[in-house]
Amino acid sequence: MSQKNNKPTCLAISGLDPSGGAGLIADVRTFSALGVHGLGLVSAETVQNASGVEAVLPKPARTLQAQLECLLADFQPTVTKLGLSGGASQLRLLKRYAEQGKLGAVVLDPVLVASRGQTLTTSSVPAAMCQWLPELALLTPNLPELATLSGQSVKSAAQAEHAAQRLFELGLRAILIKGGHRRGQQIIDRLLLAEGDSYEFVHARQNVGKTHGTGCHLSSAIAAELALGRDLPNACAHAIVWTQHALATGPSFGRKRVRYLNDAFATPE
Ligand code: PLP
Repeated sequence: MSQKNNKPTCLAISGLDPSGGAGLIADVRTFSALGVHGLGLVSAETVQNASGVEAVLPKPARTLQAQLECLLADFQPTVTKLGLSGGASQLRLLKRYAEQGKLGAVVLDPVLVASRGQTLTTSSVPAAMCQWLPELALLTPNLPELATLSGQSVKSAAQAEHAAQRLFELGLRAILIKGGHRRGQQIIDRLLLAEGDSYEFVHARQNVGKTHGTGCHLSSAIAAELALGRDLPNACAHAIVWTQHALATGPSFGRKRVRYLNDAFATPE
C-alpha cells in the first residue's frame, strides 16, 4: 500500500565522519529522529575515530555539483543545513544554488575547528562563509567561530553581541550564538535577529567529559524543526532541548570515552 508523501525534506551538505558522531551521519540520524526525510551530500571525507580527526579530504566541487544537480531534479529541500565545508570553491558553487532558491532555507553551522582541537578547514573558508551571510536563515557559531568570522575578540556577552552586529552589517538576518565555550555550570545560547529581537535559551552544563557532534546535531535539529513549520525561536528552543537530551542519554566511545549523542527518541515535551 502506498503512503501519501507529505514528509518535509532536509538536505545536509557536510563532512563524512566514519565514527558516526558528527557530520553527515549525525545530520541524517537527527532528521530521521525528528520526522523529516533526510538527503545528504558529502562535502569532504574525514579520517577519524572517537579520539580525533587525522585528515580532511575535500570532494572536488564539480563532483558535488553533479550530485546536487541530480538530486534537485527530483527533490526540493525545505531546509538545507551546511556543515563542514570542503573549501571556498564549494561554498561559491553552493551559493549560486541558494541564490536561485533551490536549497530552501539555509542553516549554516560554521564548523572550523573540532571540539577535540583539530583544524577542519582551510584559511579561505571563513571569508567565503562571510559571502554567504545574506543568504542564510540562520548562522550557528560557537564563540571561537564567531570571533573568526567577525574578526573580533569574543570573550564576553557584550563582545559577542558586537561581533554579531558586524555580521548583521554584512547581511546576516539571524544568529544563534552557542555559549558552551564560556565557563560555568549554566550555558546561555542566544538567538539574535537583525531587526533587534533577542531570545535566551538557558540550560545546565552536562558534565559528560569530552563530547563529539553536539553542534552538528543541534544545527540539524533546528533545520528539521524549521522544515516542520516552527518559527526560528521555537525551532531553536525545541532543538536545544532535544540536543541536551540526546547528549545526556548518549553513549561514550573510544579510548578517551568521548560522549556521542543518542538520536533514538522524538522531541521530549
Ligand atoms: N563535522 C565533521 C564531518 C567532523 O568530522 C567533525 C569532527 O570533529 C565535526 C563536524 C565537528 O565535531 P565536534 O567539534 O563536535 O567534535
